[in-house]
Formats: sequence, C-alpha cells, structure tokens
Amino acid sequence: MSLIFEKSIQERGLTIFEACDVPIIELPVAQSRKIDLHLPELSENDISRHYTQLEKKTHGVNDGFYPLGSCTMKYNPRINEEIAGLSGFTNIHPLQPETTVQGCLEVLKTAENCLCEITGMDAVSLQPAAGAHGEFAGLMLIKAYHENRGDLKRTKIIVPDSAHGTNPASATMAGFEVISITSLADGCVDLEKLKAVVGEDTAGLMLTNPNTVGLFDKNILEITKIVHQAGGLNYYDGANLNAIMGIVRPGDMGFDVIHVNLHKTFSTPHGGGGPGSGPVGCKSQLAAFLPGLMVTGEEFFAFFKPEKTIGNMKNFYGNFLVVVKALTYMLTLGKSGIPEASRHAVLNANYMMAKLADCYDMAYEEHCMHEFVMSLSQLKKETGISAMDIAKGLLDNDIHPPTMYFPLIVEEALMVEPTETESKEVLDHAISILKRLFTQSHENAEALHQAPIKTAVRRLDELNAARNPKLRYLF
Ligand SMILES: *Cc1c(COP(=O)(O)O)cnc(C)c1O
Repeated sequence: MSLIFEKSIQERGLTIFEACDVPIIELPVAQSRKIDLHLPELSENDISRHYTQLEKKTHGVNDGFYPLGSCTMKYNPRINEEIAGLSGFTNIHPLQPETTVQGCLEVLKTAENCLCEITGMDAVSLQPAAGAHGEFAGLMLIKAYHENRGDLKRTKIIVPDSAHGTNPASATMAGFEVISITSLADGCVDLEKLKAVVGEDTAGLMLTNPNTVGLFDKNILEITKIVHQAGGLNYYDGANLNAIMGIVRPGDMGFDVIHVNLHKTFSTPHGGGGPGSGPVGCKSQLAAFLPGLMVTGEEFFAFFKPEKTIGNMKNFYGNFLVVVKALTYMLTLGKSGIPEASRHAVLNANYMMAKLADCYDMAYEEHCMHEFVMSLSQLKKETGISAMDIAKGLLDNDIHPPTMYFPLIVEEALMVEPTETESKEVLDHAISILKRLFTQSHENAEALHQAPIKTAVRRLDELNAARNPKLRYLF
C-alpha cells in the first residue's frame, strides 16, 4: 500500500478554509520553516479510503479477541465516547473562569472521589498522563515526604523482579537506587530477602499487584508491614487493578501511594499511543505533595495547588476527556458493576487457563487473577516451536497475540489476559485455535515457522525496527 504522500497529486488538495480575510504577515526569518511542508494533496474521497484501508490492515478490539497480557485491552462502551463528545466538555478552554466550567470541575472532583473510594486512598491527582508518568509522580511524592521530614538517607527503592518493567525505570528516573529482589518459585515476594534488604536507607517498596505473572501476593499484609517497620513507604502499581477493583483496596493493604491506569482498568481505548491517564493517589500524610492542579469544593468547585506540591506533571489538570470517559464507565457500572467486572475478568482468565492446561505448561499452577502465563520452553525443546511462532500463528487466525517474552522471569512466556468483556464463545474459539496450533507444532512445525501468511506484512525485522526506526518520510 502506498503512503499518503505517494498518493498525493498536486492541486488535488481540499480547500476547507475560507480565503484569508486579514492581511498576510510574513514571519520573521528565524521562525519560518527552512524546508517545504509537503502536505499531501488528495480529495476527501481518497483520504477516506486511504485511512479505511490502513484500518483494515491492523487489529483492534473491534476486530476480534485481543488478549494482550498486562494491557487490559477490553471493549470500551460507546457511551463513554458519546459523553466525552458533548460540547460542554469539548468546547472549553483551560483558562476559562472557574465559574463558567463548574460542571467540568465537578466531573474532575467526582472522578477523584471515586478513585479514592476504589483504591482506599485519601487524595488523588488526575494530572499524570500515563501509568509510568503516575509512577514517576508517586515516587517523587515518596521522595518529597522523606526530604520534608529531613530524612535524607532514604535513597533506595526495593522492586521485586516480578514487577512491571516501568517500575525500576521510574524509580531510577526519580533519582533512587533500585534494589531488585528475586521472587519465590510461586511468583510471590521472598519475605526473607525483603527483610534482609530493608533498612534505614529504604525509601520504599514498589509492588505490582497482582504481579506480572498474574498472581495476587498472598503475603501482601506482611510485605507492607516489613517496609513500614523499616520506615519506608509502600507504592502500589495499580495498572492491574482490573483484577481487584471493588473487591479489595490497596489502601487497606498497607499501601501509601498508588497509580491507576484509566486507559486500562477504566476503559479508554489505548494501544495506538493515544491520550492516556495515570492518576496518582496517596494517603493523607502525602497529599500536600501531590501534583496539581486539583479540585476542591462540594457545591462550588475551584482549582487549587497542593501546599507542598512536587510541581506540575502536565499542563493544567491532565487529559480531561479521558477522565470523562473513565467516570462515565465507573458511574455506568456503579457499586455493584465494578466488582462484577473484576470477578468476570478473573473467571475468564481462570477458565482459559484450565482449558489450556492439558496442552500448554503453565508457569504457575495455582489460580490466577485476571491473566496467566504459559511457558513454551518444553514445547520449543520438543518441536522447535517458540512462543513467537505460536503468536504468529494466532495472527493468521485473526487473534491478537498475548504478550510475548514477558515477564522476563518466565522462559518462552506467553501472557494471556482475556478481560471480562469477552463471551464464553469467544474464549472457546481462542482455546480451540491455541490447541490446534499446539497440535500443529508437533505435526507440521515448518508451516508454523512460516506464519503469518495472511497479514499485511509477514515477520518483521523487529530488532531493526526498534533500533533504527524510520519515523520520517524522505521526499
Ligand atoms: C501498562 C502498565 C504500566 C505502565 O502504564 P503506561 O500507561 O503504559 O505507562 C505499569 N505497570 C503495569 C503493571 C502495567 O501493566
């Protein structure tokens, strides 16, 4: 398929703007562009076809099953988009007087309140724009808290090796030294190791729970107690909240800081790099440090900056329309629907895991939460078929692959997260495809090495694509 620039025909372009009715002023030379803009020129019809063709070449939640572990690729109810498209939410300006946007401020405040209630925290700032952004903000809170008490020796963050990769990255960016501890064979935190590393230099622990292998750490209360007793704080990576929302609350498990991913748990389309939201929440003793703007009030709403704020994580109050979608989702589900969604997410994952266990080796045998991890290392030894080959085989069956080669602690890992929005029929179909690919591994491995054959592109040079990405079209 040719690029839109290659389809461009001079003078074919659309004229959507009225002719300019003010004098044209030349920009100062320093500010004017040095090379031509090269906007593609196509008719509306051609543009529409171009993007529709592109859309057909990819796979989204609207095309089929998308069990990408850790990413919670669930169906997003259309009502969220309808509400977020209302002109009262879209035709406003961040610098408008507060009196003229009371409804929008109430949305922000209500979302903050709902998230406090769901997570068990005392305050939430909606400013961070992604999960990792929320992590960074949360770690800066921990830093500010210790520094404010004059306790400058707490420079280390403990991160179990079952944590999401962003955890050690965020801790490093926030200026901490990362102490990694290995997990037990059952995927849980090794309490003895934790006890051995905590001390006067511990700023905190960062825990992903359920962790990246899909398990809820059964020693969670013991873990948070060990860290608190050493004077550290507990950070909860809440990106996997889909498994527990409305059932248990990190704030009740001894956590002091949390981020959640509105663009996972609270249903906002993601995956293509669109706007996200990673609110950061905390207990009252940290609230003064939160990034602002935040909203205060019960009848009249106003913005405020927390007293000792770590500063801005983003301009104004974050990605407002993502918050509108998330709030719509929370209010549509309500108090009974939220835990129900979690239960179904966990049920769906356990159903698939149980049905697949007679073919595929599970990395961990016990019940999972919202996702499970298979290890294909034995299959690879026996047949030469790797996790990558199975993933490519799924593509030929219109199923998006699970997360591959992650978590790093499991060899030949495939991490499956069905989500609660899939029906039994969809799960049964995916199970039968996965079983068929397993049989094919033993009977006709060569064919699987060739997959995918039906997709727009075959196997890509992934290393080159990552190391030498071509991000610009050269005219
Ligand atoms: C997705 C995810 C993150 C990071 O969130 P982004 O919005 O992608 O930055 C962090 N932790 C876990 C467990 C995740 O699944």
